[in-house]
Amino acid sequence: MKRVRKIDPFTGEHEGRKQSRDMTEETRYKWDFRCLSEECNAAFYWVRPHRKFENTKEVDSTFRRFSKSPHQEDCRFDFENKVSAHKNLTFFKNGQFHLRINFPLGSSWADQNPEKGRLTRAQKRAAENNKGLKAVSSLSEMVHFLEREFGSLEDEALENLVLDYQGRSYPWREIFAGNRHYSKLFSAATDENEDESRSVLAVLRPEKEIAGNAKGKRRFVCAMQSGQTERGAENIKPVITCETKLSVLSVEAAIRNNKTVLMAVRPFVSPTTLTLKNRQNTPVYLYAYSHNQITEVKAEYWKAEAGQKKQPVQRLLFDSP
Ligand SMILES: [Zn+2]
Repeated sequence: MKRVRKIDPFTGEHEGRKQSRDMTEETRYKWDFRCLSEECNAAFYWVRPHRKFENTKEVDSTFRRFSKSPHQEDCRFDFENKVSAHKNLTFFKNGQFHLRINFPLGSSWADQNPEKGRLTRAQKRAAENNKGLKAVSSLSEMVHFLEREFGSLEDEALENLVLDYQGRSYPWREIFAGNRHYSKLFSAATDENEDESRSVLAVLRPEKEIAGNAKGKRRFVCAMQSGQTERGAENIKPVITCETKLSVLSVEAAIRNNKTVLMAVRPFVSPTTLTLKNRQNTPVYLYAYSHNQITEVKAEYWKAEAGQKKQPVQRLLFDSP
């Protein structure tokens, strides 16, 4: 686990929470560590960051559970239990709960042509080794799975979740930006590091159809929201381009029923947008190649970014006389 509760070993007092990356050799014996769930007494110890055999990448520090100290029954942080219940879809590695997915995590060229994608040889091999295993095949299936297992997409236990796609790992806390969806859309779109994943799971409210793009693909604009970017506060307007008929149907249904959607995307901004000073209307383009990368979600996931005013909802007012 990435975070645990820390307990004073002498008084037994609960002294807040501790993040594994904030730990040092000096502090590892200073407290006793317990499961993040207050009802659960499972004891943990810190594992320092280390390098795996033949692996150049450093493995992050984590907290590992003492094998003789089980979680309380049905503890939502008991990932080993969840893995044994879903062996075909999940696995447990370095204190983290991995879920295999197989729907486009974004709409890049690599998504459509995984065999030609920008994957390293090791990643391709890993993807091939995964072939015999099952994976969650749509975003909608993934949302159902996570809500069933954890109650909500915003449950803090999900900070230990990693999505595995095409042999690459996507930590949930990096891809699902909580109430910073719009800032995250912009920062992912302007991230110049091509090797890094730019995938985002964004909560959106599709509003209406606008003119199609030059290739005749249908486009839909989503509710605008203010986000904090490197340029300051910015009104970000997501525009979904539907490359397939099925994805059009998903977006149209959301507009018709006034629904909130979650979309797996790799966002883009046009280079001209970045040269303009107007921050009242910054379009961020999202491409839908498959209806499996869009799903309706509960309205409660749609929220204004922290410290920002929510864009007023446009409605006709029929005032009483
Ligand atoms: Zn527990």
